[in-house]
Amino acid sequence: MSLTSKQSTLASQVVDAIRSVVGVDSAVLHEPRFNGNEWKYLKECLDSTFVSSVGEFVDHFESGLTTYTGAKHAVATVNGTAALHVALQLVGVRPDDEVLIPALTFIATANAVSYCGATPHFVDSEERTLGIDPHALREHLQGISEIRSGLCVNRHTGRIIRALVPMHTFGHPVDIDGMMAVAQDYHLALVEDAAESLGSTYQGRHMGTFGLVGVLSFNGNKTITTGGGGAILTNDKELAVRAKYLSTTAKVPHDWDFVHDSIGYNYRLPNINAALGCAQLEQLDGFLKSKRKLFESYKSAFASVQSINLVEEPTDCKSNYWLQTLMLNESVVDQKKAIFTVTRDAGLMTRPVWTPLHQLIPYRECLRMPLPVAESLGRRLINLPSSAQLGGVE
Ligand SMILES: *Cc1c(COP(=O)(O)O)cnc(C)c1O
Repeated sequence: MSLTSKQSTLASQVVDAIRSVVGVDSAVLHEPRFNGNEWKYLKECLDSTFVSSVGEFVDHFESGLTTYTGAKHAVATVNGTAALHVALQLVGVRPDDEVLIPALTFIATANAVSYCGATPHFVDSEERTLGIDPHALREHLQGISEIRSGLCVNRHTGRIIRALVPMHTFGHPVDIDGMMAVAQDYHLALVEDAAESLGSTYQGRHMGTFGLVGVLSFNGNKTITTGGGGAILTNDKELAVRAKYLSTTAKVPHDWDFVHDSIGYNYRLPNINAALGCAQLEQLDGFLKSKRKLFESYKSAFASVQSINLVEEPTDCKSNYWLQTLMLNESVVDQKKAIFTVTRDAGLMTRPVWTPLHQLIPYRECLRMPLPVAESLGRRLINLPSSAQLGGVE
């Protein structure tokens, strides 16, 4: 192949577009940024000797999260998966229940369902939001379910469909009005997997606050990080108290006695991680500005590249733009491998979206509706280097 025709391939155009935006030799997908009070708070935390599961930073971090998201209560946990596990228990998910989740999500969503002894029931996505398609879901439920004594029962399996867990993909809010309507009509508990969407809103209201319970993650690759960490959001006081109790080994509060009246979990966020979280939360608005700027730069850089679109926030929504995402036309999906190879050789990290979960060994046998859109998106989405520092604000 001659140099010119080589350079004109789609993969080289993608490299050029990314390079023109990030302006650095190499870029990973997402790296954290510690430009605030991280060292100060970590030192304070060590000096206090309260490094473990209780301490002032945990309290500060939880109240910072409620202020930021508008949720009435926040309970910090060791990670987002643990938060999801507890959230599902809070809304009454039991062994042998079915839980509706998108096929196109990170495996943690399905694993949390499995930890409850329940089984995931996979739902298709829509291209507009990358999240669950409420119309397709409603049609599916009309076909397979009936309401018996106030519960949604799968007529084919005889099991209770207990909960609906939409996920806000890469920070883009799902059609949450649609989710709430389906949840109400089919008597499903709504739990939002908002792990990727800290800072994302729909009509000004923060994601994770629409459902009975919402879940955040502060893993190292998320918009803000505590190393590992997560949180449960809820407006319901009783659920918040129960979340704290379940994540604290189901310990009945007492000044000295060890009384545990059910099987709980050791899921609390350590104070030292919360110290990091407090410093990160102070910088969140700046990160979001940078990420929006990065989106705008990518948008102009990719405007002239044929057959590829940059994913944009849905209408009425503000996305945190956690991960920037290209959507390929089906006609150029065969070039995807070349895109990964050429961008990575150029030091620019790109990555495919998750393999739809029903295509993975542990979840192959799970119930599902037809998943044409999730499968198509699974072939067509590519994440770009998305760290806040690439946006160039400040
Ligand atoms: C990150 C993430 C989680 C939780 O992950 P942890 O690493 O356990 O904090 C859950 N669901 C989705 C969709 C995620 O992206």
